[in-house]
Amino acid sequence: MQEQQDQQATASLHPRSDVMAMIQKCCSHLDCEALQATIPCQPHHICVCVQKQPLNQQEAELNDFDVVTVPGQDMVMVHEAKQKLDLTWHTAQPLVETIFQGSMATCFACGQRGSGKTHTIRGSLSIKNSEPSEGFYVMVTEDVFCRLQDSSCQKLELRVYGAFFEIYESKVFDLLNWKKWLRVLEDCKQQIQVMGLWEEEVTSLQDVIKLIETGSKCHTSGKTSANTHSSWSHAIFQIILKKRGHLYAKFSLIDLAGNEQGADISTADRQTSLEGAKIKKSLLALKNCIRALGRNRSHTPFRASKLTQVLRDSFIGENSCTCTIATVFPGMRSCKHTLKTLWYANRMKELVVNLNSLG
Ligand code: ADP
Ligand code: MG
Repeated sequence: MQEQQDQQATASLHPRSDVMAMIQKCCSHLDCEALQATIPCQPHHICVCVQKQPLNQQEAELNDFDVVTVPGQDMVMVHEAKQKLDLTWHTAQPLVETIFQGSMATCFACGQRGSGKTHTIRGSLSIKNSEPSEGFYVMVTEDVFCRLQDSSCQKLELRVYGAFFEIYESKVFDLLNWKKWLRVLEDCKQQIQVMGLWEEEVTSLQDVIKLIETGSKCHTSGKTSANTHSSWSHAIFQIILKKRGHLYAKFSLIDLAGNEQGADISTADRQTSLEGAKIKKSLLALKNCIRALGRNRSHTPFRASKLTQVLRDSFIGENSCTCTIATVFPGMRSCKHTLKTLWYANRMKELVVNLNSLG
């Protein structure tokens, strides 16, 4: 008993006592069985064993501690301490490959205000900070530049451009050009043009980070408070690949307006509820376009909102791919909105399940 108390006292003084406590807690839930050398081993063609030695004196002097647990005959657990999530592999990664085959890839973050859409899509960037917390803008850009080094891609002679705009009150504003109001036109071939959208050529990740920083500052500025403005608008960052001056492929990353906006119509003023209704309409249109894309429908209702109109390319064509990330709060107070977000995301996912079940 005294020995156990001494051990606990020593552990609490340890510089990694937090990790030690987590391991201890984890092990307390395990149904550990004592290993017995006498348990007969079945003969196999190939036999692989793990030998774990006790902590040696040198490790003990270095304050090291045991992170390898063997709960039973057939299992070894290694408790690796991580300071942050390893996002080297990310949800949008498979989509990067598709743009090198000329397709339009689109990634959306949807959810309630404050649930982490911007954190996920943009991350916290600072050009002065050599280690920014990476969001999808950076991860996708890194992948694109990395892929461009391949000899198969170099043959394509692609050039990379960045564009950044927002949709606020159903109007398009250029975030790389002082929020210039841009007109959206559709030509006789149903091609949508965002007239005069600034497209900046980029040759490195640093170039892209600069664009994102400029655009993000512009996005959060406005008559209303910074947070309010950005959560009432959709922010769209695009990585555009061009071949001999012509569009080859596009990757659109979209930080959507909060999906709870306008929900509380009873307390909102007229202007607020009108804008809330527009956001609702655009999110509904987005869902319908993604569903039409999944069903390979010949008709995609992209004209139903400005958001889907400017993203028309994302919903047309066999190779278009989309990825939706639903961000949610864990707390009870947000339960209603969390369910709403998950329901919205599920409406898109359901479709994939249905298609699979059709074989
Ligand atoms: P939204 O864009 O959905 O309104 P934000 O991305 O701005 O929400 O997130 C709100 C706050 O929560 C920010 O301060 C952000 O840094 C923090 N946050 C969001 N998601 C995470 C996360 N996964 N880990 C740590 N902090 C987060
Ligand atoms: Mg945001």
